[in-house]
Order: sequence, then structure tokens, then C-alpha cells
Amino acid sequence: MPTHVPVIITIDGPAGTGKSTVARLLAKRLGLDFLDTGAMYRAAAAIMLDQKIDPDEVGELVSAVMGADLHFDWTTDPPAILAWDDPMDHRIREADVTAAVSRVAAIGELRQHMVRKQRVIAAQHPRLVTEGRDQGSVVFPDAEIKFYLDADAGIRARRRAEQLRESGVEIEVEALKAQILERDRKDSSRADGPLMCPRDALRIDTSGLDLDSVVALLEQHVRSRIGALIAAGE
Ligand code: C5P
Repeated sequence: MPTHVPVIITIDGPAGTGKSTVARLLAKRLGLDFLDTGAMYRAAAAIMLDQKIDPDEVGELVSAVMGADLHFDWTTDPPAILAWDDPMDHRIREADVTAAVSRVAAIGELRQHMVRKQRVIAAQHPRLVTEGRDQGSVVFPDAEIKFYLDADAGIRARRRAEQLRESGVEIEVEALKAQILERDRKDSSRADGPLMCPRDALRIDTSGLDLDSVVALLEQHVRSRIGALIAAGE
């Protein structure tokens, strides 16, 4: 990868497709920065819960999130998210945050704030792999390369159960599958920035693929696309 070329790579898709891990590994292989936009929405949900803000009090919630000055520590791998300069990376993975996040992420005013923040981050980190739900469709419609990762819901639930088991948490696969499907339903049906596959994205079903194969597939696609863009002088 030529180091002087700005490039935005978006990876969108539903919960549990391994987007974060794939995006982080891809960024590392290509020497790019990695942005986990789900962490930003999770941090907003954690702020709502921890400050005991009523989710219907949209103005109060948005001003609390703005006041928290969400930002990333780019010296850690993956970059840790901070609110009021406090690390939030453990808090945002807790079950109550996961259960609340889709409701918070459906608030239009909050999304506008996040979209602005994500574009500022991309201006400061112009060589970026960014993952979420709306990165290729809304936040970076002109991104050079877009991916959409999908997988069978049962497989996504099994993968998530395994990850949780490794961190000492036991949850039934069927219960996880129901949670994942409910989160997908909320994320796909909201008016602002719904989960969707952008028209110009490469859609990859990861159901039958292991992590290394997915990362290798994406890396190969990026390298050939960047080569073609450079050859075309774009
Ligand atoms: O990717 P992750 O599971 O961490 O995302 C948590 C939640 O944040 C999603 O279920 C979705 O509601 C929200 N989200 C979003 N837009 C993004 C990234 C995440 O609405 N770009």
C-alpha cells in the first residue's frame, strides 16, 4: 500500500459478523487506522445508563454525549474510547449497554452528532478502515472501497457465544440469536442511517469462512482496487 494515498474503507453489516475484528486486522495489514463506530454508540448508551438519563429526554441525552467529548486514544490497539477522558472500553461491552444501544442509536439528533464526529476523525486519519452500520451508505458515501459482511444468524450467535465463553460468560446460543435478530431488526428499520448494504459495496457472506480467510479476501480486494485506482490516476 503506498503510504501517501488517502483511502477510506468502509465495512458495514449486522451484529456478530466479526466486522470489528476483521476491520482491525485488515487495517493492521494495510498500515491504516481503524475506527469502531459501534463503540461510539455504545459509549452514548453507557452515558445514558450511568447518568440515569431517560431515553425519551433526547435533548438531555445529546447534550450529555456532546459534553462527554467522546474520543479515541490512538496509541492503543485497538484505539480505546474515552468519555470525559475516562476509558470506556470495558463498560461499553457490558450486557446492559448492548441491550440499550440500538434504541439510543435510533435517535436522529444523536446520529447527526456521531456522523459529524466520524467525518472529523476521518479528516485527521485520512487512511482509515471504519466499521459500523451506515459507514458506506451515509457517513462516507464516496469511500474508495466498501464492504458489507453478513452471515447466517445462527452462526453469528454461535460465534458470539464462543467469544463470551472465552471471557467467562455463559449464554445460551438461542437466547443470543434472539438478541442479535432483535438488534438487527431495530438497526435496519430506523429512519436515520439504517443498516443496509450500500449499492457499491462488495457483499461477503462469512458463514462458511474463518477469520483469516475473510481478512485475506478483503485484503486481496483492497490491493487490487487500489492498484486499479492508482493506474487510472484517481
Ligand atoms: O458494532 P456494534 O455491535 O458494537 O454496534 C453496537 C450498536 O451501535 C449497533 O447495534 C447499532 O445499533 C449501533 N451502531 C449504529 N451505527 C453504526 C455503528 C453502530 O447505529 N455506525
